[in-house]
Amino acid sequence: MRIRTYRTVVLGSGAAGLCAALRLDAEGVKDFCVVTEGLNLGTSINAGSDKQTYYKLGLCGSALDSPRAMAESYLTAGGADGDLALVESATSPRAFFHLANLGVPFPYDAYGQYAGYKTDHDPAKRATSCGPYTSREMCRAMIREVERRNIAVFEGELAVELTTRYLGEENGVPKRKVVGLIAIDAKGEPIVYRAENVVFAVGGPGGLYKTSVYPEAHVGSIGLAIEAGAATKGLPDGQFGLASFTDLANRKIKASAPFVPKEFRWNVSGTYMQVVPKFISTDADGVSNPREFLREYFDDLGDLFGRVFLKGYQWPFDARKVFGGSSFIDLCVFRETTVRGRRVFLDYRADPEGFSLDALPDEAREYLEKSGAAIPVPFARLQKMNPSAIELYRDWGLDLATEPLEIAVCAQHCNGGLDVDCRWRSVNVEGLYPIGEVAGTHGVARPGGSALNAGQVGAFRAAAQIAREASTNPGESEPTTLSLDEAYSSGLAKDPEISNLVRRVAKLATRARRARLAGVDWRRELEEIRTETTRVAGILRSGKELASASSAATEQWRRLTSESEPFELALDDGYRFDADERETLRVFQLFYARATLLRACWIYSASKVGSRGSSLAISPEGRTISEKFPEDWRALDEDPKYRDMALCAWTRTVDGEIETEARWRATRPIPEPDDWFENVWRDFRDGTIYR
Ligand SMILES: Cc1cc2nc3c(=O)[nH]c(=O)nc-3n(C[C@H](O)[C@H](O)[C@H](O)COP(=O)(O)OP(=O)(O)OC[C@H]3O[C@@H](n4cnc5c(N)ncnc54)[C@H](O)[C@@H]3O)c2cc1C
Repeated sequence: MRIRTYRTVVLGSGAAGLCAALRLDAEGVKDFCVVTEGLNLGTSINAGSDKQTYYKLGLCGSALDSPRAMAESYLTAGGADGDLALVESATSPRAFFHLANLGVPFPYDAYGQYAGYKTDHDPAKRATSCGPYTSREMCRAMIREVERRNIAVFEGELAVELTTRYLGEENGVPKRKVVGLIAIDAKGEPIVYRAENVVFAVGGPGGLYKTSVYPEAHVGSIGLAIEAGAATKGLPDGQFGLASFTDLANRKIKASAPFVPKEFRWNVSGTYMQVVPKFISTDADGVSNPREFLREYFDDLGDLFGRVFLKGYQWPFDARKVFGGSSFIDLCVFRETTVRGRRVFLDYRADPEGFSLDALPDEAREYLEKSGAAIPVPFARLQKMNPSAIELYRDWGLDLATEPLEIAVCAQHCNGGLDVDCRWRSVNVEGLYPIGEVAGTHGVARPGGSALNAGQVGAFRAAAQIAREASTNPGESEPTTLSLDEAYSSGLAKDPEISNLVRRVAKLATRARRARLAGVDWRRELEEIRTETTRVAGILRSGKELASASSAATEQWRRLTSESEPFELALDDGYRFDADERETLRVFQLFYARATLLRACWIYSASKVGSRGSSLAISPEGRTISEKFPEDWRALDEDPKYRDMALCAWTRTVDGEIETEARWRATRPIPEPDDWFENVWRDFRDGTIYR
C-alpha cells in the first residue's frame, strides 16, 4: 500500500481536469498531482458530434455582445444561478484563448476574427467548433502541455472513495472537509492520497443509463462525492436526444480512436436528419416485421417530414417542442423501443413512403434546394450536403448506402451535478472543487457548447482560488510517497487523518469482499439498474414509477452493503484488490448516485414541477399528447414558479439506509457589481475578489 501526500489532487483527466492541472501550474502551485483512470478515457477525448460546439462570448463582426447578455441566455430555461452564468460568460474569452494558444485549431478569418454560429438556446452567434472532435482536440493539446511541463500524473488509478471529515451543521446543512482519496491501481494495489483539496473532475454520470451516447470509455464517479456528503443541485435536469449505437463486432474499423469501444455511439443531429431519412422499426431480431412506425401518428405526411427535418437543428429532446414540434419524433421512437421492445433504424437507402419535395414545409424544401440536395433518396441528399457524415460511419465499418443505422433516444449530458459557489467550491465540503460536467452549473437547459466552456472556466476559477489560499497560507511541503511500513516507521501514520484513511481502505476491502461472498454479480446488477434508469428517469417520468424505482434503488444499496456476515479484513502492505473487487467498488458508487438521482426525480414529480427541459412529467392531471399514445401519457405543464428555484439535496447513510434531505432554494440572480475601474483594481490588489 502506498501513501501519497499532496496538498491538492486533481481527480480526472478530461478537458476540465487537464485544464485545472495547467492552471494550477501556471498559478505557481507545485504541490499537486493528477490522478486518473486513464488519459485516453472519459467523455471529452472520446465523444464528438456533427460539429462539436464550444460556446463563448461573441468575438466577430459588428454584433455587440457582453458578459451580462451572455449570462442572460443561460438563465432563460430556469434553474441556473446568475453568478455562475456571469462568471462562465466573463471568463469564456480567457478560457477560449488559452485553448487557442495551446494549438486547438478553432477557425479564424484573415483578420484574426473567430467567427461564430448559432447553437441551441443561443440568441447570438457565440458558438464555434473545430469539427466533429472539438473536445478531443482540446484534450490532446492540453495533454501535450501537461507532459511538456512535467506535471505529475498517476494514470491507471481508479478512485473508490473520497474521504471527508464531519465539521458540524450550518443552517441545517451538514458541513464536511476533504481528508483525501483512496484509489486502486491497475494491479489492485490500494493507494491512499492525503490531500487538503480535491479538484473533482470526474465527468457526468455516463454509466447510469443503458441507452446512452456517452462513450463506453466513461462511467463517471459523482457517487463518490455524494456518498461523501457533498450537496447536489438540479440532478434531474439531464439532456437526451436521438443517437445511433453500432455493435463493432466483425466490422472493419479504419477510425483511429484513443479507446476502441465495443459499440460506436454518435448523435444523429444536423444533416443526418435534414435529409429526411426513413424511420423503420423491427422486432427484437432487427429484421422481422419492418414498418415505418412514424406514419401511425401523422395524418399529414408533410408535417411528419417537416418535423424530422427540424430535428437537424433541434437535437435535444425539449418538452416545449412536443406539442406540434420536432421532439414529438423522439417520443415516438422512445415508445417503439422502450415500451414496445422493438428496434428503430434510420434507413438512408430509400425515401420514406409518400415522400415528395412538394410535400415538405417551405423551410425544409428551400434548405434542400439551396444546398443542391432537392433530389430523390436520403443517401444521395446526404452525399450532396455532407459527405463526411457518410465517411464517419464508413470509418467505423458501417456503410449507410447498404445498411440501416440503429438509433434510440439516448442520455447525453447532465445539466445538474454537485452544488458549487462562484469559485467552484462545493457549497458544503471544504476543499472540494467540483469542475466540468460533475458540477451542476447549468440549469434546466443550456446553450449548446456551454458544457465545454463551463469545464474550462471551472478549472480557471478553482485553480485561482487554490493558488490564492496557498499564497495566504503557505505550508507547501514536498509531496511524498511512502509504503505503509515506511509511514509507520517515519511516524507519518500517527497523523490521525492518515490512519483514518488507512482504516477506510480496510472498510472498502471488507465491503468488496462481502459482496463477493454474498454472490453479488456486479455485471447483472449494473445491467438491471441501467435498464431501469432509462425506463423511469429518461424523457418520460411518472411519479408513481419514480416512487417505486427510488425505493428499489435504496433497497438495492441496503442489500448490497448489508453487514449480515460481519467481519473486518485486516490489511497489510501486501493487500491487493482483484479485478472484480475493483469493479464492484466502481459500480457501488454508481448505485449510490442512482439512488440519489431517482429520489431527486421523484421530488420533482411530487412538487409538480411539470414538463421542462429534456423530460415530460406524466400525470393524470396532464394534457393528452396524442390520441395515438397510451391514455396515461398525459403531460403536466411546467409550473413557472420553479424557474427561479433549484433543488439541492444531500445524503447520508444511516444503518445501511441512504437518507436524502432536499430543499428548494431560490436561484441566485445575475450580480450587478460595481464596475468602476479604480474600485475593481483595488479589490483585485487586496484579494477581496477571492472572498
Ligand atoms: C456525444 C456527446 C456530444 C457532446 N457534444 C458536446 C458539444 O458539442 N458541446 C459541449 O459543450 N458539450 C458536449 N458534450 C458534453 C461534453 O463533451 C462533456 O460534458 C465534457 O466533455 C465533460 O468533460 P469533463 O472533463 O467534465 O469529464 P470527462 O471528459 O468525462 O473526464 C472525466 C475524467 O475523470 C476520470 N475519472 C472518472 N472517474 C474516475 C475515478 N473514480 N478515478 C479516476 N479517474 C476517474 C475519467 O477517466 C476521465 O479522465 C457532448 C457529450 C457527448 C456524450
